This record gives sequence, C-alpha cells and structure tokens, in this order.
Amino acid sequence: MKGYVNIPKSVYCKPCRECGARPIIAHAGIEGYVVKCPNNDEHYRTVPGIIDVEDWNIHNSQLYDNDYDLKMMGGR
Ligand SMILES: [Zn+2]
Repeated sequence: MKGYVNIPKSVYCKPCRECGARPIIAHAGIEGYVVKCPNNDEHYRTVPGIIDVEDWNIHNSQLYDNDYDLKMMGGR
C-alpha cells in the first residue's frame, strides 16, 4: 500500500536534482512523511518525520542557486 500525495502547486519546491521531477510526499509509516522523487527512491529523499519541503529544496539546489532563490521567495 503506497500513499503518495502531490505537493500543492502553491508550495514552492525545487525539481529533483537528478531527473527534474516534481517531488511528492510519501507516507513512511509511523515515522511520518518523506518528501521524495516520484521516479527513483535512490534520488534524494528527506528524513522521515514532518513534511520538510525546505530540506528537499536545500538538497536539490544547484550550486550557486541558493541566493537567487531566496531573493525570488522574498520578492513574492
Ligand atoms: Zn529524481
């Protein structure tokens, strides 16, 4: 039984660094939830617990990408 939840479009999240897919939220049993790539479990996934899109974003940032994105988010 797999429970996947699409992240709402209103939530800012980066595409998978490996394949460019938009991440999904997966239920990880009693441990909570993970944010993960829908295509490959070996791509980055967050530690099970709270839904941590921010952690996903950090780990899927391209080098030098962070400052740019922070400015983008601040401008909204
Ligand atoms: Zn991926």
